[in-house]
Parts: sequence; structure tokens; C-alpha cells
Amino acid sequence: MSNIGFIGVGIMGNAMARNLLKAGHTVVAYDIVPALLERAVGYGAARGESCRDVAARSEIVITMLPDGPEVEQAVLGAAGVLEGSVKGSTVVDMSSISPLVAQKVGAACAAKGVEFLDAPVSGGEPKAIDGTLAIMVGGEEAVFAKMLPILKIMGSSVTLTGAVGAGNVTKLANQIIVACNIAAMGEALVLATRAGLDPDVVFNAIKGGLAGSTVLNAKAPMVIGRNFKPGFRIRLPQKDLRNALLAAESMKVALPLTSSVQQMLMALMNDGKGDLDHSAIVTFIEEMARTEVKRPEPTKA
Ligand code: NAD
Repeated sequence: MSNIGFIGVGIMGNAMARNLLKAGHTVVAYDIVPALLERAVGYGAARGESCRDVAARSEIVITMLPDGPEVEQAVLGAAGVLEGSVKGSTVVDMSSISPLVAQKVGAACAAKGVEFLDAPVSGGEPKAIDGTLAIMVGGEEAVFAKMLPILKIMGSSVTLTGAVGAGNVTKLANQIIVACNIAAMGEALVLATRAGLDPDVVFNAIKGGLAGSTVLNAKAPMVIGRNFKPGFRIRLPQKDLRNALLAAESMKVALPLTSSVQQMLMALMNDGKGDLDHSAIVTFIEEMARTEVKRPEPTKA
């Protein structure tokens, strides 16, 4: 059993730290929000005083933070992980961040003799609770092998995808496919509704063909039923696609579809929709067409 430090016990980190405790590991938790740290202490975690304190008391430190700037602050900043960690310990960042930041943090860890993996996840809170996340890992094979038993407590699919940064490149690939899929579905359903068709009938007609997808099956019923309860809040893919565009620019790669959908997400956030489910991307297309995707009114007898 290991002494594991866990920094960032928000929606995802809370469930993940809990699973590590249930598996018998000791967990030292830290979060800048005192009430969230209190919640973790309430179910058996030891109270960390700072990121540095957590690192000094742990052989493995996991971070689950909103984005790259928070990871840089927590690991490289004042009273951060690297001020407390000992040579030979391991930092596993499971946040979804820019691969460029993951590489920067990984290099700073390596310079201090600390091992580093980037290991973002897919699956959301329900899978974090069940311990069935998909975990996409970047780093050295030996470090991956050492961390695998710990990662398997939190995820049912754990894949080494390449060197440090590769985990986040894989996560961004996932996010591009999901967000662009939702936007394409939105255009299709708006067109069909405006043409006077029942969107349910259209969905059922096409879902078994080449246009069918997990995204279509999960999100078309939500849109048609006007249910935008999250799920995965708009503000997260907005951040992810921004990170995809920054990474793409550094490699001189054009991502025209990602760029359009990222602009839609930004507009939706400005419209106060940042906390709706990402299926609400469709509402941007609906507004441009002045057409709402919904079932036709029943005809009066
Ligand atoms: P969250 O905002 O609920 O949790 C992040 C936590 O980090 C917060 O509690 C915050 O107080 C804490 N924090 C921020 N800065 C800190 C610092 N410097 N030191 C210590 N604590 C700090 O976010 P979340 O939904 O748990 O997501 C975490 C990451 O997982 C994000 O990168 C997100 O994109 C990714 N993700 C989320 C989901 C989801 O469905 N929520 C799914 C897959 C991946």
C-alpha cells in the first residue's frame, strides 16, 4: 500500500481519492477550497496544509485540477509539489491540460529527479465514482508500469499512448471528435426540423447507419427532449478545444472544424450557458436558423 497525495478534490478528484482510500491506500488531500478539503477529511483522508506539505508526506502525488495554469501553480509554484517532493517520487497529473504544459511540468520534475506522467481521463463523475474511467497516459514505460496498479483503481481502461504530453494529445483528440460530432448533429437536426420533419424519426432512421455514433445516441435524445442538464459542462470542452488549438498552432497544424466549434462554445459561455451540458452546442446553430429542434406539436383531431 502507498502513501498517496491527492491535490484537487473537486468533482472528479473527490471520487477518485475516495476510491484510492477504499482500496486501502493512505491519502493526504489538499484543495484551495477549505470545504472541499474538509469533505475529503470526512471520509478518511489526512489533511494536507499545502501542495508542498502533501508532497513531503507522499511517495506518489496525483493532481486533478481545472487547467494548465493551476497545475503549474500547484507543482512548480511557491509552496508547490516540487518544493516538498523527494528524489524518486512520482507525480501523476490527471487533469486535462495543454500537452505543452504537461511537457514543461514533466521537464521540471525530471530536473529534480521526480518521475512524471500525464494521465487525463474520460468518463465524467459517474465513471470516477465507479472507478471505470478511461485513462490516457503519457510518460516512460517503466514509470507507467509502476503506476498501473494505482491507475487501475480509478479506471477500467488505462493506456500508455507515448511520451510525456501524449496523454493530453490523446484526450484532445477525443474532445475534438466529441465536440465536432455534437455540432454536426446540431446542423443536421436543425435542417431536418426546419424542413418539417420529426427529429425523433430522423434520429431513428439514421442511427444504425454510418452516421450513427455513441455521441449521437447519447446526445440526440437530450437535444430533442430539451434536456441540457450536465453531464459535461460547456466550459470544459471550451477549455479543451482552446488547448487543442494552442497545441496545433505550436505544430503549425490547421484545425478548421475545431476552431469553429471552439468559437461556438465561447459564444455560448458569453450567453450564460457555460454550465449547460455540451449537447447545448446545438442551441448556437438553432439561434442562427431561428429554429428549435423539438418534436412536432400533436395535430388536433
Ligand atoms: P473541479 O473544478 O470540480 O475540481 C478542481 C479542483 O481543483 C477544485 O476543487 C479547485 O478548488 C482545486 N484547485 C484549483 N487550483 C488549485 C490549487 N492551486 N491547489 C489545490 N487545489 C486547487 O473540476 P473537475 O470537474 O473535477 O475536473 C478536473 C479536471 O478533470 C479538469 O481538467 C477537467 O477538464 C477534467 N475532466 C472533468 C470531467 C468532468 O466531467 N467533470 C470529465 C473528464 C475530465
